[in-house]
Amino acid sequence: MNTRAEIKENIEKALQAADGRARVLLATKTVPAELINYAVTCGTNLIGENRVQELLEKYDALDKDKMEIHFIGHLQTNKVKYIIDKVSMIHSVDSIPLAKEIEKQAAKRGITMKVLIEVNIGNEPGKSGIPFEETETFLEALEEFPHLLPCGLMVIPPKRELPEENLHFFEKIYQKFIDIRTKKEDNKNWAVLSAGMSGDYAEAISCGSNLIRLGSFVFGARSYPT
Ligand SMILES: *Cc1c(COP(=O)(O)O)cnc(C)c1O
Repeated sequence: MNTRAEIKENIEKALQAADGRARVLLATKTVPAELINYAVTCGTNLIGENRVQELLEKYDALDKDKMEIHFIGHLQTNKVKYIIDKVSMIHSVDSIPLAKEIEKQAAKRGITMKVLIEVNIGNEPGKSGIPFEETETFLEALEEFPHLLPCGLMVIPPKRELPEENLHFFEKIYQKFIDIRTKKEDNKNWAVLSAGMSGDYAEAISCGSNLIRLGSFVFGARSYPT
């Protein structure tokens, strides 16, 4: 894990690279709460957790009034109830049963949950996300759920040696994001393209991503349970 000084420096570098074009989300898996509380004072106050259990363990110790918390990992239907009142956006909606459960839990609390549709842009077997070709049909199906507010798309492209190898995926998802915005009647909330991580955020931004999710670039190499 990086030192506080390194974390601050890396966040500043990321913000410079983003240059106002993309929001910088800190992917905080394995980062202790007190370090997250520090990190959100360094120029971006947006964090993303990707495991329900970990978010719950840290939740009480987080300076919640100083940060915005998104859920970015794969979400099991039976765990929606634990996070529904703790996050302001879920990046990983990729099935109707999951959407249905978010609808149920959000309705129960009288809230509307902002969601992104996760697209399996590399068509990788066994990976989360809906097939690229089904993006619009899936979005239409979400209209059935009034307590979900679809705000855009999220992708995790295949792991590659060189970030340039994923440029075409970033271009493809940006085009889909724009196509939908053009066609959608009520598109004022359709505003988020969550693409790009530590290894490829510059490429993602160059292709129109407006939200990058950075873990190791900011906090250093960590070993993740996958
Ligand atoms: C961990 C994680 C990231 C950040 O990954 P890095 O390569 O460490 O920047 C981004 N998105 C999701 C969904 C993650 O789980």
